[in-house]
Amino acid sequence: MNAEQLRRTLIALRDRMKESQRSIRDGAISDAGLRAIGKAPTNFAEQASDEQEIDLMAERLTASSDTLADIDEAIGRTEEGHFNECEECGKEIGERRLAIKPWARLCVSCQRKFEKEDLS
Ligand SMILES: [Zn+2]
Repeated sequence: MNAEQLRRTLIALRDRMKESQRSIRDGAISDAGLRAIGKAPTNFAEQASDEQEIDLMAERLTASSDTLADIDEAIGRTEEGHFNECEECGKEIGERRLAIKPWARLCVSCQRKFEKEDLS
């Protein structure tokens, strides 16, 4: 995989994520709008589950915003030409890893190291 291929993959990924973010957001807005005009369920239990759903949606939205920022950064790196360089140790990030996670900033061993530190 070269920088150009990776860049194209990342841009396609970013577009798809932005699209799904938009549809999630539109869903949330239309739900709130529905409630505003009084057509939403007034039953308390139903309303609670509704709110939970909105929370869940927001959570998903936030999670994908983080990934979106990572993808943006990765696109920048492909333009600078050091897309497959580990930020931590400077070694090359393996092709297999980039194929699975094109926006990876760390090689597998550095990633493992960080995950272990998070756990402790
Ligand atoms: Zn590394």
